[in-house]
Amino acid sequence: MTETLAEPKQVACSARRVIALRYGPRGVSCEAKCAYCDHVGRIGWCGDYWISFYLLEIEHMNPIALGGTHRPENLTLACRKCNRAKRNRPLDEWMLMIDPTWPVSPRYAASVAP
Ligand SMILES: [Zn+2]
Repeated sequence: MTETLAEPKQVACSARRVIALRYGPRGVSCEAKCAYCDHVGRIGWCGDYWISFYLLEIEHMNPIALGGTHRPENLTLACRKCNRAKRNRPLDEWMLMIDPTWPVSPRYAASVAP
């Protein structure tokens, strides 16, 4: 376990409550999905939506390492596979990897312009 992976676990308890508020009174239920798998129409990698929320992780869309916050608008749910693959990539970079039609933000486009 690296130090960069330890950070999300430290905020998991409070973040789960935040996510529960976002996803309604049932909170993170068995219907919860990985935001990225869902975006590309991919059902969970084990052949079904992730059955247990314990297999979903709190994901910081813009990584803490890049200035992202723990605020609800920066949090979503991701399966372990997506979360590990995304690592500390900016959201736009990651979304382009899984969806070539993703409309990147002007700020990101400027940051990678030659
Ligand atoms: Zn996923």
